Amino acid sequence: MKILSVNAGSSSLKFQVYEMPEEEVLISGVFERIGIGNSFYTIKINGEKIKKEINLDNHEQAFKILVDELIENKIVNDLNEIAGVGHRIVQGGESFNKSVVIDDDVIAKIKEYTPLAPLHNPAGISGILASKNVIPNAIQVAVFDTAFHTTMEEENYLYALPKSFYKDYGIRKYGYHGTSHKYVSMRMNEILGRDDTKLITCHIGNGGSISAVKNGKCIDTSMGLTPNAGLIMGSRSGDIDATIVLYLEKQGLSADEIDDILNKKSGLLGISGVSSDSRDIEDGIKENNKDCILAQKMYVKKIVEYIAKYYVELGGCDAIVFTAGVGENSTSTRKDVIDSLAVLGIKIDDERNNVRGKEAKISSDDSSVLCYVIPTDEEVMIARDTYSFI
Ligand code: AMP
Repeated sequence: MKILSVNAGSSSLKFQVYEMPEEEVLISGVFERIGIGNSFYTIKINGEKIKKEINLDNHEQAFKILVDELIENKIVNDLNEIAGVGHRIVQGGESFNKSVVIDDDVIAKIKEYTPLAPLHNPAGISGILASKNVIPNAIQVAVFDTAFHTTMEEENYLYALPKSFYKDYGIRKYGYHGTSHKYVSMRMNEILGRDDTKLITCHIGNGGSISAVKNGKCIDTSMGLTPNAGLIMGSRSGDIDATIVLYLEKQGLSADEIDDILNKKSGLLGISGVSSDSRDIEDGIKENNKDCILAQKMYVKKIVEYIAKYYVELGGCDAIVFTAGVGENSTSTRKDVIDSLAVLGIKIDDERNNVRGKEAKISSDDSSVLCYVIPTDEEVMIARDTYSFI
């Protein structure tokens, strides 16, 4: 059975087609620059990558081309062979603690949460509507980034603001990257051979978040009302004194300017002045660039702070998992983080750590906590959840 897994951004559409339940990827690709000119798409099939330039005004056009490509490449003979389409939706608020089949009420709810994810939720809706029009007979399923975190207790998701703000404005910690945290924690439990585990999952990419996962359930996570909380990220500040925002406003900066600074000009980029990409920071460190050295120190320190906090919150830990772009690939960031945890008896094995983008144990045999790299796979989680409804 064929399942299409999609992730619609404001100007992009990533997709994979799976043969289920085997979880075999038959074709994958991405449409880019939708609606902003110079659009193109790339497709990966049988180990080959094809790029085509084409005018794409909206997501529906991208879906139509996607379907043509599926037929042309003999992935399907007929559209009806696509039994389900799974959509990644960033913000599902408190309404969705798991994936759901999409109907008009679900679309209305996703719309309702737009103020909390102003770029992502409208893109998700565009993807859903386009998919419903182009592949009308497939079951459409929404998979939420926030769902995995809905198991947090009140004491962990509330902010110490007047409690009415939670009721009146929905201000609470929602958490993000949930599909990734769920995937790697499930995989880690498989490796451990049991479910009654205490895990710290570190999704460290351009955006980054850390979760504390007990017995397969999220008990705490570092992102908050929005993704700009917790860790220092590529260009996001993460945790700062909230009053800085007011201070800047009083200096004459507008809300939009402050928003832009906190999300696009801070983090590794803001401190280093060089780049938001950890590869560039690593290059800068090799050239003895002082601001890159400082940025990396602060970046690592924040990751360590969250791991230590969750170690205590969980009452110990069976395994720490590293995933996403930096977590899977940056040997030096992993080493800096694990070396900083020495006081807890956590130790790295430098030879094992010399791995990129592959599942591997990286802790030494005498480490008090197992450390693993587990490449994330949000797409397969979307396909699994979609398949489960058929
Ligand atoms: P993601 O958001 O998960 O796609 O991660 C993207 C980020 O991963 C990039 O911005 C880089 O900072 C980082 N990254 C990717 N490859 C490497 C690498 N080989 N070494 C260090 N960092 C990497």
